Amino acid sequence: MGLQGKEREAFEKKLEPYVGIEIGIDEIGRDEINQAMIRHWCEALDNELPVYTDAEAAAKSVHGEIVAPPTMLQAWILPGMEMATGEDDPNDKQKELHRLFDSVGYTGVVATNTEQEYNRYLRLGDRVRAVTVIEDISEQKATGLGIGYFINTRTTFTDQNDEVVGSMTFRVLKFEPGEQPAATESDDSGAPAKPTRIRPAMAHDNQWWWDGVQAGHFLIQRCEDCGAVRHPPRPMCGECQSIRWDSVPATGQGEVFSYVVIHYPEVPGYEYPLAVAVVDMPEDGIRFVTNVVDCAPEAVHIGMKVEAEVREMDPDFKMVVFKPVA
Ligand SMILES: [Zn+2]
Repeated sequence: MGLQGKEREAFEKKLEPYVGIEIGIDEIGRDEINQAMIRHWCEALDNELPVYTDAEAAAKSVHGEIVAPPTMLQAWILPGMEMATGEDDPNDKQKELHRLFDSVGYTGVVATNTEQEYNRYLRLGDRVRAVTVIEDISEQKATGLGIGYFINTRTTFTDQNDEVVGSMTFRVLKFEPGEQPAATESDDSGAPAKPTRIRPAMAHDNQWWWDGVQAGHFLIQRCEDCGAVRHPPRPMCGECQSIRWDSVPATGQGEVFSYVVIHYPEVPGYEYPLAVAVVDMPEDGIRFVTNVVDCAPEAVHIGMKVEAEVREMDPDFKMVVFKPVA
């Protein structure tokens, strides 16, 4: 419902002093801009631009030296594990503001968007500092998540000479969590129906494949020009760039190439522990992500021979799973 009338007025009065103030905690980079952190970032994001990691190539670039990826901006001032395990800083006005929202039932929080601007590239040896201001608190809004308020902050990043190197706006919604909609309607007995699996994202390029599965078929896409097979479905052949394709029935045979057994978090609609595997199929180069079923999760192992089955997971949803070869 959200706060109404006088209560709401009184609450919004309490928000006013927060607008425009600095949040009051020192955000200073623990380390200078350094090659190790840049390398880890680039590896994690698969960014191979030499100007970030190759001194020789960087020297010949417009920068004349190694620079940090601009999108690392915030990474330089994050406090690391302390964020998860540390005590709240009593001077932190942003946390104080969030607690004020919590106290009247707006306990939900979700980040909704962020934008960054970069004034210059950071170089090895630079040191970054950040100051965050609570820029704006919206009026009460009704959103899909519940009634709440958007809080905008703006962080300004400066270097060791107090020159601005970049800025970031960050918006969160503090909201009153609404009633959770029932996952499915109840059945005739009145008991709530079991929650169902999350449905795959279907679009133009893969709808045909899922339609096949719902009809009981496990198909593999094939290039009509060079005959190369591919999965997951996509519009163009990676071998010859042809967009002409058809499909063939999968052999349904395979071998576990890699796997993981998920214990937590438990998402409604799935049984845990849940064995998720990448299965190498005899079709040239095809690896299929799937659940391994009909055996204890701890029995799944690399090299295990498995075979496919189109199985009904819910009354209106089938998918391809693999089970041990009988
Ligand atoms: Zn082809």
